[in-house]
Amino acid sequence: MATSTVLRPQVPPSVGEAPGVEQDQTVYAFFQGDYVPLKDAKISILTHAFAYGTACFEGIRGYWNDTDNQLYLFRLAEHYQRLLESAKTLLMQHSYAVPDLCDITNELARRCNLRQDIYVRPTFYKSSEAIGVRLHNLNNQLCIIVQPYGDYIDIDRALSVGVSSWRRVDDNMMPARSKINGAYVNSAFAKTEAALNGFDEAIMLTMEGHVSEGSAENLFMLRGGKLITPPVTENILEGITRATIMTLAREQMGMEVIERAIDRTELYSADEIFLTGTGAQIAPIGSVDHRQVGSGSIGPVAAAVQRLYFDAVRGRLPQYRNWLTPVY
Ligand code: PMP
Repeated sequence: MATSTVLRPQVPPSVGEAPGVEQDQTVYAFFQGDYVPLKDAKISILTHAFAYGTACFEGIRGYWNDTDNQLYLFRLAEHYQRLLESAKTLLMQHSYAVPDLCDITNELARRCNLRQDIYVRPTFYKSSEAIGVRLHNLNNQLCIIVQPYGDYIDIDRALSVGVSSWRRVDDNMMPARSKINGAYVNSAFAKTEAALNGFDEAIMLTMEGHVSEGSAENLFMLRGGKLITPPVTENILEGITRATIMTLAREQMGMEVIERAIDRTELYSADEIFLTGTGAQIAPIGSVDHRQVGSGSIGPVAAAVQRLYFDAVRGRLPQYRNWLTPVY
């Protein structure tokens, strides 16, 4: 039986230092309008966002390119556009526009001085120290952290996934199109259920029973030579990796990509399935609910998509260089 961590006083972890970074190198956060050492970026336990999950966030990757001696932030403006949409849905007043957020992130990443793959996590949160559930009449703050980052999920083998008994939150309950912190408990229920049942990842269905997405990934299925992915009205996050793969598959592989509702048992008949996300990148699926998908190993389309994706994010495809923001 898996248990959660028991919280008891212990030697404090050195939160100001990132693993793999020289000991004396300070890691910075953007916090309350300033660049500060990460260890000084602290909020009160009375913070509204902590009590009620009233925050929204983004997950952005930066890829190190050894040849160019450069760190490339991937589709930075698109991530910040989505963050501003999430913040608007949460009725957050602020003065940040997309270019400001890109500039701040670039400066923060530069100060962190990392020469490896990174993850950037900006969060807009209801910062008032107030009890009472609401969205209005609360202050908001922006914070951003940067971390060295590797794989979120194993992408060198075909994963086993299970359809979750937890349904994806509906747009009129908790909009999945916004990256709302509190909504990630829905994803956590699905992910943990999948893990405790021996699967690598969960597939969530909508209340109507259509395939929605993974716990933190969008889904693509190959059937009849076409790539099929659920439309944005199926309670998915409108994934930036999803949009990237749709473009690459159409433009570089000449494939037809269709957005349409997917039934659960179509997954059992699929030739290939893979998940996409900033964290997960391109994660091929080898089985769904104990039914083998295709050969059960990484399929040729998923392998080609993986190759194209990594070429694009590391700056090896000149025609998609406009997706990249160099840090140095
Ligand atoms: N769905 C959910 C629920 C997610 O959390 C993520 C990760 N951000 C995705 C899909 C993939 O989105 P993206 O490609 O923009 O990272």
